[in-house]
Amino acid sequence: MSLDPRLAAMRDVSVQLASAEVRAEMAEERAAKLESEVAALRRELSLLGNPETGSTGRGVQGEAGHPTDSTLVEPVSGRRDALSFADLRATNVARCEEHYHPVDAWSFSDWLTAVAGELGELAGVVKNIRRRADERGNSHAIPETTVDHLADEAADVVIYLDLLCARADVDLGAAVRRKFNRVSIERLKNGPLLPVSR
Ligand SMILES: [Mg+2]
Repeated sequence: MSLDPRLAAMRDVSVQLASAEVRAEMAEERAAKLESEVAALRRELSLLGNPETGSTGRGVQGEAGHPTDSTLVEPVSGRRDALSFADLRATNVARCEEHYHPVDAWSFSDWLTAVAGELGELAGVVKNIRRRADERGNSHAIPETTVDHLADEAADVVIYLDLLCARADVDLGAAVRRKFNRVSIERLKNGPLLPVSR
């Protein structure tokens, strides 16, 4: 079995292109991480206040005890429901450390137990979906409130998984993108994307 030279060249260029795109994405990730660090430092500065003006900062709690924006994650601008891993990380760690304890106060095992606990809650939701489907004669319709519950528990898994990765100093967004793209490149190299002459 031999590969047509033109197809082989196309495959090589495709792999080079994919590799270049991964490097460009990693550079973008570094830039996004730095932007996130700048935003986190600005938030920290805002909380500390300004000794020159006498401002004492906003503190951890805002008016009427509501959390300030230091404990809220905001969507990526222009994309209403999108959220960057970097923004989640900055706010997730800040909220944990302001309201609970330092991230390092829990071991890897402690954080993994928390992830597993939330996975268990997610499994409970899915189990109930199946049970109710059986009761209704295997209907595929899932109540909206159940979908919301499933979404909440899936979110809890990601939030704790991000804190586990923070404890291990792992950039979760970069790790997901790197691993995802590594598999895609392997598919480009070895997959059936280009025909092979025999
Ligand atoms: Mg939960």
